[in-house]
Amino acid sequence: MRTNLLGLNRPALTQWLEEQGQKPFRARQLMQWMHQRGESDFSRMTDLAKPFRSLLEAQAEVEVPRLLSEQCSADGTRKWLLALAPGNAIETVFIPEEDRGTLCVSTQIGCALACSFCATGRQGFNRNLTTAEIIAQVWWANQALGHDPQGERIISNVVLMGMGEPLLNYDAVVQALDILLDDFGYGLSRRRVTLSTSGVLPALERLRERAPVALAVSLHAPNDSLRNALVPLNQKYPLQALMAACLRYLEYAPRDFITFEYVLLDGVNDQAVHAQELIELVRTVPCKINLIPFNPFPDSGYRRSSSQTIQAFRQRLQQAGLVTTLRKTRGDDIDAACGQLAGQVVDRSRRHLRMAGAP
Ligand code: SAH
Ligand code: SF4
Repeated sequence: MRTNLLGLNRPALTQWLEEQGQKPFRARQLMQWMHQRGESDFSRMTDLAKPFRSLLEAQAEVEVPRLLSEQCSADGTRKWLLALAPGNAIETVFIPEEDRGTLCVSTQIGCALACSFCATGRQGFNRNLTTAEIIAQVWWANQALGHDPQGERIISNVVLMGMGEPLLNYDAVVQALDILLDDFGYGLSRRRVTLSTSGVLPALERLRERAPVALAVSLHAPNDSLRNALVPLNQKYPLQALMAACLRYLEYAPRDFITFEYVLLDGVNDQAVHAQELIELVRTVPCKINLIPFNPFPDSGYRRSSSQTIQAFRQRLQQAGLVTTLRKTRGDDIDAACGQLAGQVVDRSRRHLRMAGAP
């Protein structure tokens, strides 16, 4: 089988080259060709000697999943659907803003964690993505977005906030982070790469030393009983342990705060008492709160909080001195907003059957 070089970080690519009897510095050249110039055809890597190119053609490949569709929202948000056999597809979203361009990438086909308000969670789980499949999303987006004539980066930020729980795919994700951060890869600073997790604590402990990027934690509830219901993983890693892990992460993090994400669900977690509990909960953790209006999907069973409720919740937090932002809903006309990503998932967890009442 030929090796897919797209998914090798620099140490792994260097080792592979050495095994082929090649010089280690070729890793830098190859990475630049693949990740910076978007080249997938070895025969077009013109500054590589012919015999080396022939060796690459025989032993290796730059394999990217097939692009199934591209959609563009009225607000400029773009979404790509990539085919992953058999019968699966994952989604990647680009969100242009005034001062940055953010690419939201997926890390798993579906998600096993089953948060009750999340379309991905509803769909069940198929498998982890490989490093190459994670990186291929950035590769495709770069191809589609092209180059800025002024030489500005079009993708200035990458967030691991698409389909899946990145910390349940730890090995592939950290290698993808290596490539995103590598000067010969995508050259992003650690501050511009954000991993979002619902709180897989053992993996978070490992991440802080291995690849401490900016961290977003999906909180969504200020007490254990409510969070147990919304984010079932909380039953395993409850809030006090999560807060302690966040504090430890900050010792290594590239930013001096954690972002807490909080989806506002009408009548469920958006009342004054919840705001008060939240203020208490995060008191000791330097943080910013990112409030997310719930994005609906069919049969979710939840409603978005009214704008008055959202504003009141935000003000309560702000009055307590918490920096609180409200995430703008982007791309919902193409189902690209947070929590709406569904792709196509061949569920192997049998969740859809259990939900339909089957044994
Ligand atoms: N599994 C990771 C990353 C992917 S989810 C995590 O949970 O953090 C990315 C973000 O979208 C999370 O904060 C998640 O809670 C939020 N989200 C999920 N469903 C949503 C919905 N229906 N509306 C708005 N945000 C949602
Ligand atoms: Fe998985 Fe994140 Fe969705 Fe929860 S919110 S089901 S962890 S993708």
